[in-house]
Amino acid sequence: MPKVYLLLGGNLGNRTLYLQQARESINHRVGIIAQSSKVYETAAWGKTDQPTFLNQVLEVETILSPEEALQSINAIEQELGRVRLEHWGARVIDIDILFYDDLVQQTQRLTIPHPQLHLRRFTLMPLTEIAPNLVHPVLGKSTTVLLENCPDELEVKVYEKAAE
Ligand code: ADP
Ligand code: MG
Repeated sequence: MPKVYLLLGGNLGNRTLYLQQARESINHRVGIIAQSSKVYETAAWGKTDQPTFLNQVLEVETILSPEEALQSINAIEQELGRVRLEHWGARVIDIDILFYDDLVQQTQRLTIPHPQLHLRRFTLMPLTEIAPNLVHPVLGKSTTVLLENCPDELEVKVYEKAAE
């Protein structure tokens, strides 16, 4: 069965609860969650005047095609009441496709691997935790090496659950 790696992120409201609800919907609509990283906390990327983000990476076994997976993910984002205020702005949940097996594709709607994944520490930290030996099909490097070479200096740390 194909394996898809998903990045979950959010910085509004009860962030832990939104992540949990997203995982439940993913289980229902995308496939079985085979692995999930810890939850990480990061300062907002690109815009700094907003709350910190929580991020998590999931490995999901799916029978959906990449396009079908994207549709399901978009439906989940809408269900969870994603508020689209501005690019890189605050949102309750954002779900991105990082890898779909070792597929390489670039269409208007969907670029796989995710074009920013090697540039973002908040993506590489949780991804490396659950898939340290996974090789990026375009860059030819493991997630571990990509993390070592990542120029992003934003601090990313394991989130110690606090009451929200
Ligand atoms: P961003 O994730 O960049 O903050 P959005 O979540 O609003 O912004 O995504 C905008 C569009 O990006 C989606 O509607 C989708 O069609 C497209 N897209 C392209 N590649 C991917 C990918 N790998 N994962 C998720 N969305 C993608
Ligand atoms: Mg997105």
